[in-house]
Amino acid sequence: MSTRREEILRELGLTPVWRLRERTPAAATEEPPPAMSAPQRPAQAATKPQSAHAPRAAPKAAAASPPLADSLDPRAAGIARMEWPQLKEAVAGCTACPLHKARNKTVFGVGDENAEWLFVGEGPGAEEDAKGEPFVGQAGKLLDNMLAAIGLKRGENAYIANVVKCRPPANRNPEPLEAAQCEPYLHRQIALIRPRLIVALGKVAAVNLLRREASIASLRGKVLEYRGTPLIVTYHPAYLLRSLPDKSKAWEDLCFAVETMRGLQNAVTGTT
Ligand code: URA
Repeated sequence: MSTRREEILRELGLTPVWRLRERTPAAATEEPPPAMSAPQRPAQAATKPQSAHAPRAAPKAAAASPPLADSLDPRAAGIARMEWPQLKEAVAGCTACPLHKARNKTVFGVGDENAEWLFVGEGPGAEEDAKGEPFVGQAGKLLDNMLAAIGLKRGENAYIANVVKCRPPANRNPEPLEAAQCEPYLHRQIALIRPRLIVALGKVAAVNLLRREASIASLRGKVLEYRGTPLIVTYHPAYLLRSLPDKSKAWEDLCFAVETMRGLQNAVTGTT
């Protein structure tokens, strides 16, 4: 094992290294994964297949469909038609909910706009609000390590966004109204990126994307769906910083995500 990989796994509290158990691809959907651990070659597992931009099954969310706020809402319908520059401008000037009053910077999202992987967090904290970039604080460092452990890097085949683009005061959870006002932006980001797989980081991201109340425990280990795009749920990095025992569960989730991504890529390239 390379020193860098050792460092990452140590950082994640995941040494000594375990081995990924083999599973059949058919078992990957809607059933909890077996107890899993570090994939033997995670870096390869996460990267794009040779046909990096092989056609992706068009998610139902893609271009034409209206956001969940639905077509009765002209604001949401307008956002659903925006291209990247307009969308970024709209977020930067947004005053649709009270969160805009205290923000320093909006936090649009960052990464590869053609990424196969989309990671969705909750909302900016103080450091993100100051910098205008998601996950740049301690939780961000852990997220970067989690990405590195599966061979990903922010900006390279991965995009990172949040449910809300402005910082909720005192890092509280976004209120339903705030999340609802921001939802058309996230929806449009997803439609433009067309990720193969969404990873919801924490309960706030999961319940907002899935639009149903549920515990993280009940959502982990399953391939769920955001409007046609496969979605997996794991713990929020900030929670993992406080709850070391759950780091190994997060690692299981990442392994499951890698395995799911492999299945999705193979489904497109026809590999078995
Ligand atoms: N937590 C989040 O959910 N998002 C960020 O961007 C930073 C911390």
